[in-house]
Amino acid sequence: MDAEKTAWEQRSVVPVVPPVQPRKLAKVPFVELADGRLQGVVSSGSDIERVYVSSITAGSHALSCSTNNNRPCGALHGYACKHIRQLADEAVVQYGLDRVARYLGVEVPEGGDLMSCIDGHVERTPAAVVFSRFLRHLAYLEVPDSTEPLAELHWFPATGAVR
Ligand SMILES: [Zn+2]
Repeated sequence: MDAEKTAWEQRSVVPVVPPVQPRKLAKVPFVELADGRLQGVVSSGSDIERVYVSSITAGSHALSCSTNNNRPCGALHGYACKHIRQLADEAVVQYGLDRVARYLGVEVPEGGDLMSCIDGHVERTPAAVVFSRFLRHLAYLEVPDSTEPLAELHWFPATGAVR
């Protein structure tokens, strides 16, 4: 390993701070309740370069999943694909089941599971809007150096990211 490469690797390391609640950040780097949807960005299980933009619309429970290049998710037909399920799981970790269920307008019985209560049809939502929000989220990377931890950055893979 030459010195130049080592220096590059040292500069690219992002300090990792512990999350308030443990989330699978490498899997679901971005989740939000916004624009009348539960929406977010989910890593592809097989291709580290690809991400999916998934959403569940509040009220109608319409399901949408496509890549960041607006290619429809091949696993979404009639029922939620694993990306939407991962997104829902992470939203429950981040916001709590009550808040997510209330936002989406879902009645989840005591001890019940959110996704088993969602019987939505497939409705393709353009990925660009959600993805641009995600990129704005990443713009924190450009804030000046600070010793204060940025909670939004702790998912960012530094070295040895979990696949
Ligand atoms: Zn999908």
